[in-house]
Amino acid sequence: MTGPLIPPGPLAHGSELNAVYAIARIVAETFDTEAGLDAIFRLARTIFIFDTVALYLQNDESSEPEPTYARALGRGRAREADLTWGEPAAREAYRSGQTVLRQEDAGPTVAGRERRRDYLGLPLIAGGRGVGGLVFGRFGGPAYPSEHIRLAEFVAWHVGQLLENRRMARRIATLEAQRELARMQDEFVSTVSHELRTPLGFIKGYTTTLLRGDAEWDNDNRVEFLKIIDEEADRLRELIDNLLDSSRLESGTLSMTLEPVRLGALIKDTASRAGALYPQMKLEVDVPDDLPILQGDATRLAQVLDNLLSNADKYAGGSPVSVQARREGPAIVVRVCDQGPGIPPEHQSHLFERFYRVPGAKSMIRGTGLGLYICRKIVEAHNGEIKVECPPGGGTCFVFTLPVEAPEIPA
Ligand code: ADP
Repeated sequence: MTGPLIPPGPLAHGSELNAVYAIARIVAETFDTEAGLDAIFRLARTIFIFDTVALYLQNDESSEPEPTYARALGRGRAREADLTWGEPAAREAYRSGQTVLRQEDAGPTVAGRERRRDYLGLPLIAGGRGVGGLVFGRFGGPAYPSEHIRLAEFVAWHVGQLLENRRMARRIATLEAQRELARMQDEFVSTVSHELRTPLGFIKGYTTTLLRGDAEWDNDNRVEFLKIIDEEADRLRELIDNLLDSSRLESGTLSMTLEPVRLGALIKDTASRAGALYPQMKLEVDVPDDLPILQGDATRLAQVLDNLLSNADKYAGGSPVSVQARREGPAIVVRVCDQGPGIPPEHQSHLFERFYRVPGAKSMIRGTGLGLYICRKIVEAHNGEIKVECPPGGGTCFVFTLPVEAPEIPA
């Protein structure tokens, strides 16, 4: 079959001309292949008669075309189109690259006009290569006349174009996804190397200073340097833990150990640890004694609270911080609020994304933008939700909800 780039002629009716132009327009404008095929075949049926149409496409280069689309549009339309009926004509057209006409007698068991079947098989070409076959079926004759065959070839050529458009659209989407992945990997490597280098720089610098043979350090200086080295080593470990958690969360390999958790006690423990870690923090804890026990991973839930409190210290230093927990219906709701600068509304929906940091906000504060992402993943693993609220009066509240899973274990 040659490519009928121009509508087949001679065109007897204006309606044929309208239909072929409409088919060409669909190919140029439609991105939804299935809807495009439906529209093309509906239009095709206004210019030549067929009862069934089916598309057989190769899944990969080595395979035979498989049935992928079928419609019964004619008098047999009450029944679902049977995808196997046109297969021999489709395969022959695909192999030979030629239009194929087949006539079959379905035998005496088939009553009425459906006994005689005329199949018109056409090769499908997309991107200059045979990709399958298109078959029109007609029951009860007459055989396809030559002008109908030309119209069918015109339709097949445009179906090939539609398939080529789909292939190109998928290719572009894949390339864009690959480019985005490469961009994220580059960003990841530069964020991570910067974040790892900073504490390492301190550790190396202060260790070299302490080891210098030409300088004498008094005890206070030595203790101060060692403290810095100790803190930076902690930070390095925290960073590596966060990076590992985050990549395990992405690959779905972070394991959770669910056990009965007394959330009230867990909050009080975490808060008292935070009190020691951040002595300047004015921390208030408000947790009722009768909070139900829930099923959860205590270490991971403590990690969520640790992270929210560490953020309150970093971004709202010196402000009062409150941790409150309440039973609300089938869930426990925990609120960690500070009275710091708050978070501009346009950044709030991105906060829980991997590596997201509010641009410019306290840029000298170190971080990777992984903490809140890890919090979200942990809370979601408990079937809960986490969100941020910034009250009009200022400050930031992180609110997470954990369902109390049945059966409830009595306290
Ligand atoms: P990191 O602290 O490492 O940057 P997080 O994921 O914990 O990463 O936090 C993401 C961003 O959210 C922070 O960079 C900061 O801009 C903002 N943020 C988090 N907590 C607060 C808070 N309590 N007050 C103001 N901004 C906050």
